[in-house]
Amino acid sequence: MIALYESNKKAAYYEGFANMRRGSGQWRGRGPGRPFAGLRTGEIKMNYRAFLVESGKRLLHSGLTVETWGNISARDPESGLVYLTPSAMPYDTLTEEDIVVMRTDGTLVEGRRKPTVESGMHLGILNARPEINAVIHTHPIYSQVFAVLRQPIPPIIDEAAQALGSTVYPAEYALPGTPELAHNAVKALGGKGMACLLSNHGAVCVGRDMNEAFKVCTVLEMTARIYHLALAVGKPVLLPDEQVAFMKDFAEKHYGQGKA
Ligand SMILES: [Zn+2]
Repeated sequence: MIALYESNKKAAYYEGFANMRRGSGQWRGRGPGRPFAGLRTGEIKMNYRAFLVESGKRLLHSGLTVETWGNISARDPESGLVYLTPSAMPYDTLTEEDIVVMRTDGTLVEGRRKPTVESGMHLGILNARPEINAVIHTHPIYSQVFAVLRQPIPPIIDEAAQALGSTVYPAEYALPGTPELAHNAVKALGGKGMACLLSNHGAVCVGRDMNEAFKVCTVLEMTARIYHLALAVGKPVLLPDEQVAFMKDFAEKHYGQGKA
């Protein structure tokens, strides 16, 4: 991610100078050390193919899946195009040319590889949730414990309240890669859910951007692990709905630098 950020930063840097030379840009650098301060957001061209390659490595190293399982998609909000990881290829050797580009109606735009077998699920979620731009499907151990039990995971810790915002429900079982699984996942996520479980299979996490989707993945697995341990020694005390709603709202509006 850092490498990608640096490369995008560098691209933005050069593009900023190009605009300045053409006299069409709005270069408003504020002195030494802030060469990007004046760039308009639209001037930073995101390389989604490189972004997906980096995100694949991030998924592999997160420990939330193994081998070639799991898959990732990102939607470019400007073009509406969706970038997906290819089917059954090792994340650590993926290249930009392996990334598949599709429209949300399922048509292939570009790609020499077959997209992930769960492309229908990714596109279904992105169609149903216009505010979501990143979808990550994982196979993590503790989330899968509840996916096998087909039991929901409640937001029992503060991090879950903030990142997940509600109970994570298991989708009704369907075979991998089928339209039924896509339909069931969209239904289990609902209109506001940040994650759902795929029965006897794994988890699906979403975000307005990739960082948020990864945060949801990490927090879901941590919550599942704590819930599993808590159930093993006693009866977990659930957080009241209003406290969960308060923490979710606080996390979105106030938590973090640059917020009031
Ligand atoms: Zn899977």
